[in-house]
Amino acid sequence: MSALYLHIPFCRTRCIYCDFHSGTDASLQERYVEALCIEASMRAHELPSATETLYLGGGTPSQLSPALLHRLFSGIARHIEIGDCTETTIECNPDDLTSIYIEALTQLPINRISMGVQSFSDTDLRFLRRRHTSQAAIDAVKRCQKAGFGNISIDLIYALPGQTLEQWQRNIDTAIALGIQHISAYALTYEEGTALYTLRQNGSVKECDDELSLAMYETLIDRLQAAGFEQYEISNFALPGYHSRHNSSYWQNIPYLGLGAAAHSYDGLCRRYNPQDTMLYIKSMEAHRCCYAEEHLSTDDRFNDMLLTRLRTRRGINCDTVRTSFGDKLSRYLLRQATPYLRQGCMEYDAPYLRIARRGIFISDSIIADLFHIDEKA
Ligand code: SF4
Repeated sequence: MSALYLHIPFCRTRCIYCDFHSGTDASLQERYVEALCIEASMRAHELPSATETLYLGGGTPSQLSPALLHRLFSGIARHIEIGDCTETTIECNPDDLTSIYIEALTQLPINRISMGVQSFSDTDLRFLRRRHTSQAAIDAVKRCQKAGFGNISIDLIYALPGQTLEQWQRNIDTAIALGIQHISAYALTYEEGTALYTLRQNGSVKECDDELSLAMYETLIDRLQAAGFEQYEISNFALPGYHSRHNSSYWQNIPYLGLGAAAHSYDGLCRRYNPQDTMLYIKSMEAHRCCYAEEHLSTDDRFNDMLLTRLRTRRGINCDTVRTSFGDKLSRYLLRQATPYLRQGCMEYDAPYLRIARRGIFISDSIIADLFHIDEKA
């Protein structure tokens, strides 16, 4: 089992919080799609087994015209078997999803839509420099449902400056009322280099305090659980049977091939990183030259990666797998490091699974970092 990711680095405009690799020069799109197909021809052999999931992320993949999407799918399919994928997702911006565009998506082997909604408040959307309104997002979801898409995910952001708990609750309730199958929700982060980061630095915006952010997260979990959603990962909630198979493969250390500018790949032993430079990527592919940087993973890297990915899931990490993969010493180390958190109720051990308990979710990053193994001699 393996997964394929295609990065589409085009957006019509840039949102103030975003540090994903993308640009607004649409004139590069045709060359870029050809470049992706060339890269598929050069790197198909890196996939160790049949591709089970395909994910078009970005950027904004829905900035590609239906004709370019057709060209992309047929170009990739010449080199990689994608016909048997059980899940093929495209990330979309609500205002790209006209009836005509959605109809075109139904003609492609796409069975899952992931929509960047972020908020159902127009004030929030304007602040974030999103291109759509709340109503436009609601209408886009309904159009997708009418066209037959039965697996729709939306992204939401909470802990926005000035956002109240009541406003956030209304966002969650609006999302639930839409009858979608999956919700990803993230606290707003201030990434260096973004316009939002600058606004905070110069005092124009004030960050939401931790207490309110935690209350918003708790509300999110409670309301979604009451509506039948399972929290299967720290930021991801799905109706039964609708978890993202593609993202779950990242959390289960399943090998994946990422094609495109800024895309990453992983085969269990090494990671490869394409450059975050769309023009450099296109020129390299046109010269039929791979352009990734490579990092061979040490035992500690692989152990820490396993913690980082699996402890984000509700199931947690299987300590038997840790012992089989890394030996007794590291598995004993893991349980030793986890002991204070088990005592505090921030972690749970339900043999053989060790997981972060609800009480520890909000501090999960620091718990996981504390469990990492760093060989002093390395
Ligand atoms: S958040 Fe999405 S639409 Fe906005 S700039 Fe980033 S990739 Fe583009």
